Amino acid sequence: MTIRTRLALQFMLLASLILGTAFIVVYVLSADYREDEFMGRLKDRGTNTAKLLIQVDEVNEELLGKIEGDNPVRLPEEVIRIYDHHNKEIFRLGHQPSDTMKSELLDNVRLSGEQRTDVGGRERIAFLFTDRFDRFVVVASGRDIYGRSKLRNEGRVMLATFLIGQVLIFLVGRFYAQRALSPLQRLGNDIRDISAVDLSRRVHVGKEHDELAQLAGSFNELLDRLETTFLSQKNFIANASHEMRTPLTSISGQLEVLLLKARSPEEYGVSLNSVLDDMHALNRLADRLLQMAQAENKAPASTFTPVRMDEVLWASRTEVLRIDPAYSVDIELIDVEDGSDITVMGNENLLRSLFTNLVENACKYSSDHRARVELRVDRDDVLVRVTDMGMGIAQEHHDRVFEPFYRTNNTGGTKGHGIGLSLARRIAELHDGRITLVSAVGHGSAFTTRLPKAA
Ligand code: ADP
Repeated sequence: MTIRTRLALQFMLLASLILGTAFIVVYVLSADYREDEFMGRLKDRGTNTAKLLIQVDEVNEELLGKIEGDNPVRLPEEVIRIYDHHNKEIFRLGHQPSDTMKSELLDNVRLSGEQRTDVGGRERIAFLFTDRFDRFVVVASGRDIYGRSKLRNEGRVMLATFLIGQVLIFLVGRFYAQRALSPLQRLGNDIRDISAVDLSRRVHVGKEHDELAQLAGSFNELLDRLETTFLSQKNFIANASHEMRTPLTSISGQLEVLLLKARSPEEYGVSLNSVLDDMHALNRLADRLLQMAQAENKAPASTFTPVRMDEVLWASRTEVLRIDPAYSVDIELIDVEDGSDITVMGNENLLRSLFTNLVENACKYSSDHRARVELRVDRDDVLVRVTDMGMGIAQEHHDRVFEPFYRTNNTGGTKGHGIGLSLARRIAELHDGRITLVSAVGHGSAFTTRLPKAA
C-alpha cells in the first residue's frame, strides 16, 4: 500500500472517529431529550386529568371521559388511569390490553414517587398524585409516534452524512497526501537519475525550508563527498597505472635493445643491473600501493598492539640504509626515561613504513644525505621529528606534498612516485595522529609526527 493511500486511510479513520463520536453523542442526547419531553407531556396530561377528577367537584368520571375523550391535545394511543389508595381503578381514559397495572407496581410507585417504563415503544409514566384526603396513583401512557419518527429521521440523516463524509474525507485526504508527498516523489525521481557514471548531478532542494529540503540538502552533501572520493579514486588509479608503466616501459625497452644483437658479458651485466634497478623501483611502488590500500581499510583499533617507537625508528633506519648505504641517519631520544612512555598502540609494519618514508625523503632530498631523527614525549603524545638540511619545500607546496602522486618541481632527477608522504599522513591518521611540516626552500625541512601514547 502506498504511503499516500495509507495516510488517506488514517486520516479517514481519525475523522470518522471524531465525526462518529459527535453523531452518537448528538443522537443519544436527542433520544434522551425526546423521552424526557414525551414523559413530561404524559405527566402533564395525567396531572390535568387527575386535578379535574379529584379537585373539581362538578366533574365526575363520565363527564371527564367525555371532556378528555374529545380533547385535541390527546397523545397518540393515550391511556390515562387513576387508582385510589386501595389500588382500585377509579378512572380510565382509553384502552390498551397490555396496560394492566399490578398492585405491587402501584405500591412501588407510592414508595418511589414516580416510575417510567418503555415496553415495545409504548411509554408509560406512573406517579403519585396527592390531595388533602387521599394518595392516588396516576398512570399515563402513549406512543410518541412523531418524536420517534423525528429521531429516526435525524439518525438516518446523520448516517448518510457520516458515510458521504467518509468518502469525501478519503478523497480529500488522498489529495492532500499526494500534495504533501509530491516533493518526496520528485526527490525519488531525481535520485533515480543519478548514476555512478555521472555523480555531478544533484537533487532539487526547493524553496521551502522544510524537512524535505533538509533531506535533499543532506543528500546533496553526501553526493559531494561521494563525488570527491570517486574522483580521487579515479585519479589514483590513473596515476598509479602511469607510475607503473614508466618502469615497465623502461624494462621492456632495455630488454628489446639487448636482444637486438649478441652482447659482451659486461654489457649484459650493465643492462641487467639497470633492469634490476627498475624492478626494485617497481617492487617498492607495488609495496607502497599495497600499504596505501591497507591504510585505507581503516584497520580496526582492536588489531593494534603496543609498539615501542624507538624500535620502530631503528628498524626504519636499517631499511633506509638498505635502500642506499650512503645515507646517514642519526636517532636521538630526548628525555625519554621509560620505554612505556614511548609506546603507542598501532600496526608496527605501517608505522615502520611511515618513518621509513620520512627518513628516506630527508636523505633523498638533501645534498649531505643525512637525516636527523628526534624522539621525545609531549604530555600524552609521542613526538618524532625528522629533519634535514636539504633543499626544503616552498610554502605553497606544504599541503599539496601530502596529496597522492604530487611532487614539487625542484626534485631534480631524484626518483620517486609522490606516494610516500600521502601514505605517511594516512598511516598517522589511522593511529589518531598527525604530521606537520615546517620547511623553507634552501633551509631544509622538519616533519613532526605526533602519535597518542598507549594508555
Ligand atoms: P616521492 O619522494 O616519492 O616523490 P613523497 O610523497 O615522499 O614522494 O614526497 C612528495 C614530494 O614532496 C616529493 O616529490 C618532494 O618534492 C617533496 N618532499 C618530500 N620530502 C621532502 C624533503 N625532506 N625535502 C624536500 N622535499 C621533500
